[in-house]
Amino acid sequence: MSRKTSSELKSSYDVIVAGGGLGGLTAANVLAMSGYNVLLAEQHFQLGGLATYFKRKGHIFDVALHGFPIGMKKTLRKYWSQEMADHITQVKSIRFDNPQFSLETTFTEEDFTRILIEKFGQTREHVNAFYKELASMNFYDENKISNRELFEKYFPGRNDIVRLLMEPITYANGSTLDEPAITYGIVFSNFMSKGVYTFSGGTDLMLNMMEKELSRNGVDIALSTKLEKLSVSNGKIKGAVLNGREISCRAVLSNGNILSTIEEWAGEENFSDSFMEKVRKVRLNNSSCQVYIGLKKGEKFDHIGDLLFTSVHPVFDPAAILDKKISSRTYSVYYPEIRQGSEDYTVVASMNARYEDWAELSDNEYKEAKKKLIDDTFAHLDKYIPGIKEKSDYADAATPRTFKHYTLHGGGSSFGTKFEGLDVSMKLPEQLGGLFHAGSVGIIMSGWLGAANYGVIVANGVDKYLHAGKVCT
Ligand SMILES: Cc1cc2nc3c(=O)[nH]c(=O)nc-3n(C[C@H](O)[C@H](O)[C@H](O)COP(=O)(O)OP(=O)(O)OC[C@H]3O[C@@H](n4cnc5c(N)ncnc54)[C@H](O)[C@@H]3O)c2cc1C
Repeated sequence: MSRKTSSELKSSYDVIVAGGGLGGLTAANVLAMSGYNVLLAEQHFQLGGLATYFKRKGHIFDVALHGFPIGMKKTLRKYWSQEMADHITQVKSIRFDNPQFSLETTFTEEDFTRILIEKFGQTREHVNAFYKELASMNFYDENKISNRELFEKYFPGRNDIVRLLMEPITYANGSTLDEPAITYGIVFSNFMSKGVYTFSGGTDLMLNMMEKELSRNGVDIALSTKLEKLSVSNGKIKGAVLNGREISCRAVLSNGNILSTIEEWAGEENFSDSFMEKVRKVRLNNSSCQVYIGLKKGEKFDHIGDLLFTSVHPVFDPAAILDKKISSRTYSVYYPEIRQGSEDYTVVASMNARYEDWAELSDNEYKEAKKKLIDDTFAHLDKYIPGIKEKSDYADAATPRTFKHYTLHGGGSSFGTKFEGLDVSMKLPEQLGGLFHAGSVGIIMSGWLGAANYGVIVANGVDKYLHAGKVCT
């Protein structure tokens, strides 16, 4: 077991990874496998970051295990273990229910093509041309069109089609119609080509397996350990202050928010004026609300689908999805099969949300607003699971304030930053030697797969830096 208390930590490491989200965990594992002496410091008492779980009243709730692309299987196999990759299974039934359409899909390119032809009256040639344009989008191209322009080009005036194609992505990463279409193209091609997948056994099992693997590879893991400040000398990282104690290192890989990394941990004085100008333009992404419901022991309900995108809003409108007056909810339904041997049924309702709508509420207002969130969710979910309120013995809600509290992301951001954050994150080491960042940025590097893969990319950058002998003394 490589969990360490603050006093058990060594005085020096090759690399300190600050943050145990999927980006930080994967980066730490890759660096340890390359032979580096790695400390993984997580400020919370549990690993996982946004991709975590919690236990209440005999239930286990998965916070962010709604679905991810098949690519996660390869990432787990290459950078974790075959055993973990073998836990990836397909989410079978995904449903949409809104005033414009109700349908069920496997979320594959073939099934979306079928639906677009049969239900939405498009020709196969037209649908194929749309897919072809998405597939040809390259991150390095100067492709400036927005999602709005992309949809207008292929499906003019068809808000229903835009809803089908865009709503899940808006839920998954906060995208709007004004985002660069390249972000949509990359996420859509990933997500909707071969269906949606989950980790059988749940987030708890996955994180336990990851912790074992990290320990096996020699990573020291320090929970409840916060990175407070970076130590810099001659424009290079020479250590970090963790829970008040200075530990030296050759590089720091931050998995925390990119803006906190620059403004709080490093300090603006370590960056050029032109870089800081770019930093100030980085917009945080939106946050979330969730309602967690657990069924009484022995209670059950029929299969209603695994993932339900529901809305009572007449049309697709990303602003309405964010509104505190909730009209759209995504339900993730966890049947006992997700955890072998369990008889537990849980439902997690997720809503996109704005931090500003929750930040200033008094204690009483906040309590009341949370209660309303839960009551309204029960009332709405009753349509799909009759008697759900009476069948359940646990319900609680998370708000943007909850997400901020547990992850320290500014504004409780669920998906890091908008597109411009990616360039800032990637250029960090050019500004301050030995400082790297891997975590949700720029939409495409967020989500389970994006965050984990970005962790690998950045770990390779750390490896190159350390290998080149840019050692700070
Ligand atoms: C409600 C919700 C549902 C989601 N559903 C899905 C889904 O179904 N599929 C999907 O693919 N993605 C989903 N996501 C997104 C996905 O979970 C995240 O994009 C991904 O987990 C982010 O990983 P990350 O590496 O960027 O780090 P994060 O998860 O943001 O973790 C950062 C870590 O850094 C730690 N930290 C911060 N500051 C410090 C400090 N000073 N010192 C030490 N540690 C620090 C935090 O405590 C945290 O553990 C969802 C997100 C939310 C909020």
